[in-house]
Amino acid sequence: MSAAPVVGVLALQGGFAAHASMLRALGAEVREVRTPADLDGLDGLVMPGGESTTMTLGIEREGLGAPLRAFHAAGRPIFGTCAGLILLDRDHLGLMDIAAARNAFGRQLHSFEQDLRFPDMEGGPVRAVFIRAPWITDAGPGVEILAAVDGHPVAAREGTLLAISFHPELGDDDRLHRAFLELVAQACDDGARICPSPGTA
Ligand code: GLN
Repeated sequence: MSAAPVVGVLALQGGFAAHASMLRALGAEVREVRTPADLDGLDGLVMPGGESTTMTLGIEREGLGAPLRAFHAAGRPIFGTCAGLILLDRDHLGLMDIAAARNAFGRQLHSFEQDLRFPDMEGGPVRAVFIRAPWITDAGPGVEILAAVDGHPVAAREGTLLAISFHPELGDDDRLHRAFLELVAQACDDGARICPSPGTA
């Protein structure tokens, strides 16, 4: 991909601003997404952490469900983190063949950090910040589990979808956002859509 990727961040609620600054620092052009029209022209989308119930209501209110499914069907990558992982699952947008349990580490356990090793990731383990995090309780055969805590999957990939339970936008380790931008570049190379090229707006 020769021009900067255009990446949307779902901005109905939650931690979208930190995702936006991390993506911008990596050279992406970032747009906040609140309505279906905001999806036009995006190469990929991040769904942040926050409150999955509030975000689900916002998606319904704005009529974003079908456009998000079409976005995925067009081969454009989506990165769901924490509440964003929940939105991807079978019971919410139904984009990813996973079931997620909300607040799976327990409501009392507000947050914790843990080192996680990701396959094919250079630079050592990721220091993962979990905040009232979900985990994946079931995954279909097309889903690759990338990391787990005590045997519970907390990171997974299925085709153009990347889902993680924790908050990669906190701190300064940008490797998961880099991995997502690689997915975006690859989707463009695969011809999923008309990708930006120099000189086209
Ligand atoms: N517990 C939240 C939910 O179920 C997710 C927490 C988060 O995104 N940090 O929506």
